[in-house]
Amino acid sequence: MRTALLSDVHGNRHAFEAVLAETAEQGVDAVWCLGDLVGYGADPNACVALARERCSIILAGNHDLAVTGDLSLEEFSRGAALAAHWTQSVIEDEHLEFLRSLAPEGEAEGIGLYHASPRDPIWEYVLSSMLADLCLTAQPERISAVGHSHVALSFSRDQEAEASGTPREAGEIADLAGGEWLINPGSVGQPRDGDPRAAWLLLDTGAWTAEWRRVEYDIEGAAAAIRAAGLPGSLADRLGYGQ
Ligand code: ZN
Repeated sequence: MRTALLSDVHGNRHAFEAVLAETAEQGVDAVWCLGDLVGYGADPNACVALARERCSIILAGNHDLAVTGDLSLEEFSRGAALAAHWTQSVIEDEHLEFLRSLAPEGEAEGIGLYHASPRDPIWEYVLSSMLADLCLTAQPERISAVGHSHVALSFSRDQEAEASGTPREAGEIADLAGGEWLINPGSVGQPRDGDPRAAWLLLDTGAWTAEWRRVEYDIEGAAAAIRAAGLPGSLADRLGYGQ
């Protein structure tokens, strides 16, 4: 089965449409979304509608849970809290109800799926080998997929060894056939690993490979929509830097 793994769309319709077009071109069997459909970007309704139409699995992310009111905004940065309030003011009831129905973790094809981490599906940022080691020990499946950090990467471990990991650039392919893995496709709508292109991952659970991919999209369009919505300009600017 060939699956498109994606995460952290964050209301960026321009990026999401570009990624979904490429997943269709690639003829994937399914699209799985690891959460944070909303927050930061200017098109939350369009993004939830697209996800409901195209994704067979959708997890809840911390920003989704902030918009539904299930998570307090106290732990959010100022920009993130402003964007969550704004999203609450424009989100359609039907989409809000849908977000309320989502869970931050799941499982499919033997892969553990988490918005953030196997230890803390909502909040933990897995960006160090030390934390990855703890996650690999905690995860029930051999392979976990996470989002949340907005950094395309992988950590892996063989039997006794310690976990090691690396950021992943466009075109890199990992052989998942052996060992324990934690993989992150990066972010569709707000990449933070220095590559501003929209990120996704092509997962083949027959061949057991993961291919990190990036897609060009209309960054100016997404940034203009953020400014037009009256959201903080910094949320528009960072799209161009991929930070
Ligand atoms: Zn996110």
